Amino acid sequence: MESVKEFMAGVIRKNPGELEFHQAVEVVVESIAPFLKKNPQYEEENIIERMVVPERVLIFRVPWIDDKCKIQVNVGYRIEMNSAIGPYKGGLRFHPSVNLGILKFLAFEQVFKNSLTTLPLGGGKGGSDFDPKGKSDMEVMKFCQSFMSELFRHIGENTDVPAGDIGVGSREIGYLFGQYKRLSNEFTGVLTGKGTNWGGSLIRPEATGYGCVYFVHEMVKTRGEDLEGKTCVISGSGNVAQYTTEKLLEFGAKVVTLSDSNGFIHKPTGLTEKDLKFVIELKTVKRGRISECAKVLEGCKYFEGKRPWGIACDVAFPCATQNEIDEKDARMLVENGCYVVGEGANMPTIPDGVKVFQDAKILYAPGKAVNAGGVSTSGLEMSQNSIRTAWTREKVDMKLRQIKINIHENCVEYGRQKDGYINYVVGANVAGFVKVADAMLDQGVV
Ligand code: NAP
Repeated sequence: MESVKEFMAGVIRKNPGELEFHQAVEVVVESIAPFLKKNPQYEEENIIERMVVPERVLIFRVPWIDDKCKIQVNVGYRIEMNSAIGPYKGGLRFHPSVNLGILKFLAFEQVFKNSLTTLPLGGGKGGSDFDPKGKSDMEVMKFCQSFMSELFRHIGENTDVPAGDIGVGSREIGYLFGQYKRLSNEFTGVLTGKGTNWGGSLIRPEATGYGCVYFVHEMVKTRGEDLEGKTCVISGSGNVAQYTTEKLLEFGAKVVTLSDSNGFIHKPTGLTEKDLKFVIELKTVKRGRISECAKVLEGCKYFEGKRPWGIACDVAFPCATQNEIDEKDARMLVENGCYVVGEGANMPTIPDGVKVFQDAKILYAPGKAVNAGGVSTSGLEMSQNSIRTAWTREKVDMKLRQIKINIHENCVEYGRQKDGYINYVVGANVAGFVKVADAMLDQGVV
């Protein structure tokens, strides 16, 4: 392959303006370049050149009628990135910031993540610039029905299996599944994250957060430690943040912050199980703002317009969105004693921030390794749907934990440097790449 710089110039020229996609590709290509040099078979067949081009991109109009009987229109997307090792799999994001570049970055990351899970899952991602915030349930339902009225002809249990992401939780998955079933006249596992009384897997709602903690636990074990008593700073207060908090409390850690897009809360003595219950109800049922915690939870302060990275901690879990830790934030974290960073969100740290963590030789692992528990459990949901059964909570949790241990072992195998430092970025990218690339070699030029 030409130099990373030349390769990136081509990616930028062919995908103009898609900044997040450029960023995600550059991080992967830079980290696997030495491996590609040693293994020329991949370069000879232009594997990475092929991997940065989606197999298929769908863009469609989503018209719907709001509660005031006015016609609204949004853009719908599905990026079918790579199906070398299984059907396309990846979430749907409903957020006003959604555009083609963001979804292509997420789909590209998903290919590597899904490969790491050891399950037969290809990579995809989709969504819309629709904002569920402030909409009534009826409006959300009408939007979901219109979105699925186009998407249904492109997905299927053996083709493409979407799930949730930012703005798409159990409510949205329910409406999307209902419309899929109606249009296709079949009941199949075409979406994951379903309700447990209609095909959903136990532990799926908790899986991304639980998986983050299982993975970070393996990370701290490499230094002969565990999570008990560690002070943890978390961003976000959605699905991933909530269940990361729940599992951390179970492991005896202290969670001192949560946030949303308006600001963060800080409780120096640590959130309790009761506090977390309040947050879950607030964010998923009442759909309120995290600021309300400061009025209700004792000893809890709210900081408007700020992110939590200035709070001293041992472990940081960015669990909100992409590019939420910049270089300055990263420096602040390290200077305040943080020595473990586990990314619950996808690409939350900008590359200069990652460099700060790696130069300081702290334990740092990227989202595709840390947050892969969600898609892993989606894979387990697909298996249960295929054989028409439902496994117990304990069984799913045990499988999830084992998958996270395996992912960690793979990262260590490919990422350990000569001085013993584990570069989880290299580990996750190379381990994720090899399986997909080998399948592409086997399947010829398609
Ligand atoms: P979610 O339930 O919708 O929660 C998202 C949280 O992040 C909310 O607290 C939200 O605040 C905050 N947030 C969203 N956009 C933000 C922004 N631009 N700036 C600051 N805060 C922002 O979503 P989620 O499922 O937890 O996903 C969070 C992250 O994890 C995403 O990067 C997602 O791709 C990744 N992830 C999710 C899963 C999964 O299974 N759900 C799996 C793997 C990775 P508001 O309440 O103000 O919107």
